[in-house]
Amino acid sequence: MRKHIERDSIFQSVWLIGGPKQKLFVGKSDFQNSNGSVNAPVFDPWKEKHWDLHRRIGNKWELITSQTPGKLEPAQVSKAVLDFAQKYGDFFDPDGGENIASYLAYLRHGGSRYNRFWVQEWEDIRQALALIEEGKEYLLMDVNWSGLRAELPSLNLKLQQFTVPEMRKKRSGSSKWAVGILPTCLAGFIWILIARDVLDGVTYKPCVGFENCGREVPSTTPMGKSTKYCSERCKQREKYRKRLS
Ligand SMILES: [Zn+2]
Repeated sequence: MRKHIERDSIFQSVWLIGGPKQKLFVGKSDFQNSNGSVNAPVFDPWKEKHWDLHRRIGNKWELITSQTPGKLEPAQVSKAVLDFAQKYGDFFDPDGGENIASYLAYLRHGGSRYNRFWVQEWEDIRQALALIEEGKEYLLMDVNWSGLRAELPSLNLKLQQFTVPEMRKKRSGSSKWAVGILPTCLAGFIWILIARDVLDGVTYKPCVGFENCGREVPSTTPMGKSTKYCSERCKQREKYRKRLS
């Protein structure tokens, strides 16, 4: 069990400053307007405060792979990609939701490179979370740690691949500027959350409404706050429950 550390955002090593707006994958007919254009729903992990998203995705993948020990069948991978895209959108392209159908079609014709990227990313996330859980997060931190460890995900490489730096004021009205990290895609958002766990010692506990939402809350949010609820919905539900009791 790792130590719970309260920190103001000003002292955070990893300053997450935004998230991608994810277009979700939907069947073409579901959301078609009269003019034929498709109005896809959007998942906004920043606005919806999904600070536990990496852990939810890690758990989900763990579940999928544990059901089928050994190699996953292409059809299982397709289903996993589709389920994911309906809930979270595309891993690597916020606007890519509508393209997913074509990735799946590729797969039916002998396998898509793109789907392999998804599987690799899920696998890397699962592995990173397992290492953190075991207290071996240092293995994620050095690209040149050891030739033998080349198969482990590297936080540096992930951040270089999926995020960009941006200068911002630390607080509105403040004159102090700092360099924050902005994800360019969902994978970037996930890896910044993982970097927070590693560098800032962020830990998680179940949301007060866990029975309903299945979500966790971090020891400190990217804004440096602590919270008991994953969302406004859980907060309201709990208020209502208290009023009744
Ligand atoms: Zn909740």
